[in-house]
Amino acid sequence: MAKIIDGKAVSASVKEEVAAEAAVLKEEKGINIGLAVVIVGNDPASRVYVNNKKKACEAVGFRSFEYALDESTTQEQLLDLIDVLNRDDHVNGILVQLPLPAHIDEKTVINAISPEKDVDAFHPVNVGKIMIGEYAFLPCTPAGVMKLIESTGTEISGKQCVVIGRSNIVGKPMAMLLLHKSGTVTICHSKTKNLKEICLGADILVAAVGRANLITGDMIKEGAVVIDVGMNRLENGKLCGDVEFESASQKASYITPVPGGVGPMTIAMLMRNTLTAAKNQMK
Ligand code: NAD
Repeated sequence: MAKIIDGKAVSASVKEEVAAEAAVLKEEKGINIGLAVVIVGNDPASRVYVNNKKKACEAVGFRSFEYALDESTTQEQLLDLIDVLNRDDHVNGILVQLPLPAHIDEKTVINAISPEKDVDAFHPVNVGKIMIGEYAFLPCTPAGVMKLIESTGTEISGKQCVVIGRSNIVGKPMAMLLLHKSGTVTICHSKTKNLKEICLGADILVAAVGRANLITGDMIKEGAVVIDVGMNRLENGKLCGDVEFESASQKASYITPVPGGVGPMTIAMLMRNTLTAAKNQMK
């Protein structure tokens, strides 16, 4: 029976470290770290994420500046705001909550954020840095997954790592971080033919698909570390991951629950990135 990786506990310890460092910066250098969070429109899930980010800022002693813009905001107006935030010294990190309304081009908006304040690490400059392993920021969700794997004491070097999903924000950077730790990495996606066979070879399996219970216990190698990034809402309103928890936990050595696994880590790593941004901007 697998041990459950407690994402809430690991994220609490990351936030404690960040809070302690932020307190020292405040005390010794008079720096008040600030994160600007921009949301456009009224997507209920996005509102929940933004509120959670605000609460996390308060918990670690950062200032948060919330810009809740109307659904009808034009791309030009949003770009103007980003320009102001890029130049505001009180703002160390800028986060634009995705998805944006259809009339706004996400790529143009991400490209407008100063790479030094891009705490989501979505800007092409930061994405490129991740490729060559010289990064200031890691994208929050994959970075959180790395912390969770680390918390199990599992050595990644030389292990067969399988990442399911190839999105720019989770799957691709996830694969790259595992590769940087010398894992042998396979990326699976919607066109992968022999998913079960590939998964059965995984010592470390990261599922980031967005399909409830796609990965079942019979696809998991005995003793594997299983990380479930998926967040799916079932018809009964319950949240569940991409991994069928009951059957998978019979095979895995460690497994993350949903909720309470990867989710809390994403916000903790956002706080860590904002601290890093502030420290780098001091240099
Ligand atoms: P996405 O839709 O951009 O990408 C999904 C990926 O899954 C694609 O690359 C696609 O090729 C692959 N895929 C689809 N069907 C497949 C199948 N049958 N077999 C194998 N691969 C398949 O999604 P995303 O933004 O990467 O997010 C993935 C999941 O992770 C979602 O459930 C999302 O809600 C969740 N998520 C969670 C957090 C968190 O903090 N916990 C953060 C980001 C995303």
